[in-house]
Amino acid sequence: MTTVDLPLLVLGEGTDPRSERGVHCPGDLPPASDPDLVERARAAKAALGSKVFVLGHHYQRDEVIEFADVTGDSFKLAREAAARPEAPYIVFCGVHFMAESADILTADHQRVVLPDLAAGCSMADMARLHQVEDAWEVLEDAGIADVTVPVTYMNSSADIKAFCGRHGGAVCTSSNAKTALEWAFEQGEKVLFFPDQHLGRNTAVLKMGFELDDCVVYDPRLPGGGLTTDQLRDARMILWRGHCSVHGRFTPECVDEVRERVPGVTVLVHPECTYDVVTKADLIGSTEYIIKTLDEAPAGSSWAVGTELNLVQRLAAHHPDKQVTFLDKTVCYCSTMNRIDLPHFVWAMENLVEGQVVNPITVDPDTTHWAKVALDRMLALPG
Ligand code: SF4
Repeated sequence: MTTVDLPLLVLGEGTDPRSERGVHCPGDLPPASDPDLVERARAAKAALGSKVFVLGHHYQRDEVIEFADVTGDSFKLAREAAARPEAPYIVFCGVHFMAESADILTADHQRVVLPDLAAGCSMADMARLHQVEDAWEVLEDAGIADVTVPVTYMNSSADIKAFCGRHGGAVCTSSNAKTALEWAFEQGEKVLFFPDQHLGRNTAVLKMGFELDDCVVYDPRLPGGGLTTDQLRDARMILWRGHCSVHGRFTPECVDEVRERVPGVTVLVHPECTYDVVTKADLIGSTEYIIKTLDEAPAGSSWAVGTELNLVQRLAAHHPDKQVTFLDKTVCYCSTMNRIDLPHFVWAMENLVEGQVVNPITVDPDTTHWAKVALDRMLALPG
């Protein structure tokens, strides 16, 4: 496996292609054991005042979320950043593709900072631009590219969003995937959906009435995606072989086991879980939907939640009158989200106090233009 094209490697120093990322922050990173970190973070935030706007994704650690001016999913956070043009610095406590989206949607004078450049997303990394371009050539050779609309999940790199913008496609979120796919099927006969095969399949089959046989999985590591020309021509949904390493861990057995363990439990899962899991669950929805459902649930009700563990633990703490259980028995954090810890946050903030922007995330103008075209097509969708 080659790792030289991974975007995060080239951003750091001393890369080691054999390690997960091999990136380290240059500069004076405070040790994790520093007992004064919380005070240092508070002091830096107070010193920066309205010059900084701190965004915290729902899957972040509590110690970091404490300093967020706003929390949300990736799309909500990018929009919140765009709505704060008065803040020259946006510190994004999330992962790389989210910081890219914030840079795309914010004004030119705003700088977006990712406290640890190693905070990537394994799902986003499963669709690389050269692979997607190769796949498009396969569709052209099969004579179906002109009737295929590319749709990418928000959880993808900026250049993939730009690919969709250039080829008449759009971006979607887990909240509006159905609306985005309905729009796409008005534009063409087929959809190439990436990077998350599960969100694509679950939306097409469970919300739009497609058959499982209408979907094929394109594997970018195989010649021709591992599909015959006839398979491509017959398919309506061409799903990229990608998945979330957190939500992909939940199994149907987890659902069976929690139903035995917790009588009367309602199983609530994210649509990045596999088809076999979501069809066993009671409710399916985005992170924002999960939060809202728990907020509105009656006291005394029991819930097993299939999403990232930091969020589930926070929901359990916020709802002591309800029983909130993690769907899996084993611990499962998003390891890349967890890269953003207090030492990196303090390091980024204290540098901003000194007027130094560390770890800026900048998307080039051409990619920004076309990615914004795809994002704007999503924003123009009803609802
Ligand atoms: S939870 Fe999954 S999709 Fe979200 S950042 Fe982590 S690996 Fe990526």
